[in-house]
Amino acid sequence: MRTDLHIHTTGSDGCWSPAEAVEHVRAIGIELFAIADHDTLINVLPTAGLARQAHLSFIPAAEVSALVNGTGIHILAYGVDTTDPDLNQLLDSNRTLLERSNEETLQELAAAGYPVDLNAYASYDYDPSHGGWKALNFLIDSGICTDVWDFFKRLLVAPTRPPWPSFPHPAEVIATIRAANGLPVLAHPGVSLREQGVSEESLAPFLEFGIAGIECYAHHHDEATTQTCLAFCARHDLLITGGSDCHGGFAGRPLGIPEIDSSDLRLGSLERFITT
Ligand SMILES: [Zn+2]
Ligand SMILES: [Zn+2]
Repeated sequence: MRTDLHIHTTGSDGCWSPAEAVEHVRAIGIELFAIADHDTLINVLPTAGLARQAHLSFIPAAEVSALVNGTGIHILAYGVDTTDPDLNQLLDSNRTLLERSNEETLQELAAAGYPVDLNAYASYDYDPSHGGWKALNFLIDSGICTDVWDFFKRLLVAPTRPPWPSFPHPAEVIATIRAANGLPVLAHPGVSLREQGVSEESLAPFLEFGIAGIECYAHHHDEATTQTCLAFCARHDLLITGGSDCHGGFAGRPLGIPEIDSSDLRLGSLERFITT
């Protein structure tokens, strides 16, 4: 089965509604998929219903933000109980941290002389089909940056505070996912561990934190990174997942790339979460 276990929707910063995501998935022949929005489960149940109608196999998921040694880490939470109160509280808290960080970024830009109207931001709303997040859309609509790349490369060059909000430690995120009956998978180590490099040494702490698997196949990974992750999973008996991190038309990651067949993966006990 062609598979993509990392797709974003309008639940976080993707462009597609659940219906549009399912339609795109179906159109390119993906048969097993998961949506994994940042720090929210809001679109999981609507997508599950639409997937069932379209005869597609689906796994519920979210992509949860964590922070360790000043580095932002994403943990994929597969198969979680969407009603679990502790998990939902953690996700709510992460979204609050993110929004506060966005407001601080806007305040910094205003202090640096950019024409950021903070009062206008308070009542600002945007069309989620554009993708991205509120502060980014506000800056684009205000003519202060042109797109997400311009934002990161030109505006966000020298923030005066740490670049990541004070998200919880990965061990706490992982424990919360497991307590919500889910399986925690380290997302795209090639991104999160970019500075230290992906290796046995840099991956090893995540074993201690309680990870169940690694997203070995990712848009962001070159062949060497993928092979390092696969070898690590084989050595430590971990699940192997993969996905595109597609955000619809936002952020330039096409759906279904890298091309993954479910036989490339090691889903193990994750298979019990697949609904058809
Ligand atoms: Zn991510
Ligand atoms: Zn993602």
